[in-house]
Amino acid sequence: MSNSSGKKLYLSPPHLNGDEINYISNAIESNWVAPLGPHVDAFEEEVSQYVGVNHAAALSSGTAALHLALKILGVKKGDHVFCSDLTFIASANAIRYLDAIPVFIDADPASWNMCPKALLKAFDSYSPKAVIVTDLYGQSANYEDLSEICNAHKIQLIEDAAESLGAEFQGRKCGSFGDMAILSFNGNKIITTSGGGMLLSNNKNYIEEAKKLSTQAREDAIHYEHNRVGYNYRLSNILAAIGRAQLKSLDDYVNKRRDIFNYYKNQLDNFDQIEFMPELENSISTRWLTVLRFQDFSYNDIKSLVEKFSLENIEAKPLWKPMHLQPVFKGLSFISSQDPDGFSGELFQQGICLPSGSALNTDEQGLIIEVIKNFLN
Ligand SMILES: *Cc1c(COP(=O)(O)O)cnc(C)c1O
Repeated sequence: MSNSSGKKLYLSPPHLNGDEINYISNAIESNWVAPLGPHVDAFEEEVSQYVGVNHAAALSSGTAALHLALKILGVKKGDHVFCSDLTFIASANAIRYLDAIPVFIDADPASWNMCPKALLKAFDSYSPKAVIVTDLYGQSANYEDLSEICNAHKIQLIEDAAESLGAEFQGRKCGSFGDMAILSFNGNKIITTSGGGMLLSNNKNYIEEAKKLSTQAREDAIHYEHNRVGYNYRLSNILAAIGRAQLKSLDDYVNKRRDIFNYYKNQLDNFDQIEFMPELENSISTRWLTVLRFQDFSYNDIKSLVEKFSLENIEAKPLWKPMHLQPVFKGLSFISSQDPDGFSGELFQQGICLPSGSALNTDEQGLIIEVIKNFLN
């Protein structure tokens, strides 16, 4: 068996459900093709209801949402902001937009998300202005411990739930933890608007401020009046329309991705060196990506395996390269409760993300599994 169909198997391609076109037509027929409009309002309402928060601002990207969240908390030049080390770079870039200084916090073997012990340790050396915690690969971080630590230090927590819409921890949805949370609807996320994001909070003032800053900080006047520098960060009505159609499939897509994970896990159960990303007790991961590590691998093995996949027209990727190892962040602090390279560095050497799109079928998964089996045997 080989992937002779010629169809490339992507990590997480968009999965359209067919209803998007009706929503787009509605937006176009109503002539609401400008930014803002009724679909934007409705999308904010529906997402906040799904997640269980009171207020939301639909924005042009998840990165824009992170930028505004930090801005709203008053993060300024020279301030420290704690940030998950094992994350996609957008979480950390937003800190740099404000000339603030990221301090990277190691991952925890129990969740592969931010390590509470390392977070606590970081407070010994720094007084940060905010903490950004990423819910990685569809998994909630351990907010029981992380929120307690942030509360004890009276520091606001921003939840980066870009990869984990639909996930739960202790009966609450990801996106409802922290003083603010951000979502992304980029093309690779579990639901997409092609590009887009959202800022969520129970604090009405925060969201009103986000709506103002994202529309060039325009003051209330008949002419264009501005007291502050703003941004052009709002979502368009057409893209919000796509998001509303996608949202209806979210729970199906979560179940589908969990099924895909379980199939990988069952089929690869015999290999003792394989460890799958753990699911915290009392949590439901969306398994946005199926992620696993080979305990006897080094980075070169991962590289060879990714190349083997590539020959079969299959997209697989090493784990996100930790922020403390990124050349762009050279010289910045990294706090770990273990060895200098941290648990995140160890995962990067041994981990791989497998194709996990909700439209992936069992035959296609079989091809992917076969590549791994051949590689290991
Ligand atoms: C995708 C992603 C973002 C950024 O979202 P965009 O909408 O692409 O700007 C932020 N954080 C994490 C963890 C992500 O995976």
